[in-house]
Amino acid sequence: MSVLEIVRIPVLRDNYVWLLHCPATGATAAVDPAVAEPVDRALAARGWALSAVLNTHHHADHVGGNLALKRRHDAIVVGPAADADRIPGIDVKVGEGDTWSLGDATAHVLFVPGHTRGHIAFHFPESAALFCGDTLFLMGCGRLFEGTPAQMWDSLRRLRALPGDSRVFCAHEYTRSNARFAIQVDPHNDALRRRAEEVERARRHGHPTVPGRLDEERATNPFLRADQPALAHAVGLDGADPVEVFAELRRRKDNF
Ligand code: ZN
Ligand code: FE
Repeated sequence: MSVLEIVRIPVLRDNYVWLLHCPATGATAAVDPAVAEPVDRALAARGWALSAVLNTHHHADHVGGNLALKRRHDAIVVGPAADADRIPGIDVKVGEGDTWSLGDATAHVLFVPGHTRGHIAFHFPESAALFCGDTLFLMGCGRLFEGTPAQMWDSLRRLRALPGDSRVFCAHEYTRSNARFAIQVDPHNDALRRRAEEVERARRHGHPTVPGRLDEERATNPFLRADQPALAHAVGLDGADPVEVFAELRRRKDNF
């Protein structure tokens, strides 16, 4: 086993590319490289060689750097089997229950459709690290571009069940706007209020908020709390099925 070294590379407007490095073997991967150059610079600064690109889904702000990175490094592209035809340069197709190793560090793949129909997440248990792309955001979740509320709710519940100390490495810095929405639909949640204040402070100083901890998400993310009576009540759906509550929360956030 090996605990990964993880580097944040902010790119574009609000995307994060994550660089993963196995110190025992030197194996290095870039998760969802929207663009190639900042990844090249981060690699060069550390003297690391890129061995793999990991993609969670097919959107351009996650795969835009695939081909350039493949060309410049001897790297393979690992992505969702269910979406193989939309992942540029894919070499290794993975899905639910598969494992894939970066040097001595093993990732477990979860199939988490909803944002797109082929979305996957990579969980490295020994590093307590979850790379969830645009499925789970801190205090938020991805828009439903290709999936149904039932699919997304099921995906989020499965991510929610991972160990509480897991660090959530999502692909966007959306936390501040997510927190403002969360407060609106969960106004009596003290843990949420405290966290929202911390986030406002961090963002005012230009500090990143990602990664967060999964147990904090369980306590404060309204989209992980759609089965809580308080959230059903807040959206006027007392006693309703959590899928309905989730769908209504997502609808409201789309118009927030
Ligand atoms: Zn996306
Ligand atoms: Fe995205």
